[in-house]
Amino acid sequence: MPELPENEAQRLTLERTCLNRTVEAAELGDNITHIDLPGDNELGRLKGRQFTETRRHGKNIFLGSKTGPWITVHLGMSGWLIPYDLPESEPDHTKFRIVFEGDRRLAFRCPRKLGHVKVIEDPDAYIAAKKLGPDALSIERNTFVDFLGGSKAAIKSALMDQNRIAGIGNLWSDEILFQTGLDPARKGSDLKADRLDTVFDAMLTTLSKGVVVEADYSRLPDDWLIPNRKSKSDCPRAGCEGKLTHRKVGGRTAYYCPAHQS
Ligand SMILES: [Zn+2]
Repeated sequence: MPELPENEAQRLTLERTCLNRTVEAAELGDNITHIDLPGDNELGRLKGRQFTETRRHGKNIFLGSKTGPWITVHLGMSGWLIPYDLPESEPDHTKFRIVFEGDRRLAFRCPRKLGHVKVIEDPDAYIAAKKLGPDALSIERNTFVDFLGGSKAAIKSALMDQNRIAGIGNLWSDEILFQTGLDPARKGSDLKADRLDTVFDAMLTTLSKGVVVEADYSRLPDDWLIPNRKSKSDCPRAGCEGKLTHRKVGGRTAYYCPAHQS
């Protein structure tokens, strides 16, 4: 599932390709039952508008303007926003498209239908209504440490709690714990303050690097988990002789190295 770095890369794509162009039409694709998409009135409201700004909060992307309306996109498990220019053909599984004046198009490809597109008035009101926590790249250290230090859930689950810290999912929580040497099932409430600080630092380092490389995993350091995230492969951490493995933690598949994570 796309997480903070992947969503930030998508936001950048929109910033680079979709601003200051007049919307001629917003349309739905084929086979759109069971996916949350705008209705006819909302689609009509986008016509004639220009998007002038983008935002992202956690795993939510926003495209709009000071006077609104905005569209907000959640990529779900495998959704992706794909800008293209005619005569290039539309990606398969397009569920929503914006037709800009001229040849530019923006397609929302969502084969598994778990994402959504909504037309909203204001991103801040939407974030508040969804009760999303602060974005993982802007959360205050104290807020983070207080929450995690008081959590009796598996630390992996706590990091993925969107109502407390928005943006971390299965993949990046594994990376953060790999780098801090913590077993994914440890409880935050069992950790000392300095350990909680190292989790916060690792969260900032890993997510920032993910943003810098625009979620291109081949550009992540070789000794990180994500580029090597396969069971039975050698632990990539320098000096560690362990083998990577996986197990279910809080209902999600956690990859980790039992030799240096405890
Ligand atoms: Zn290891």
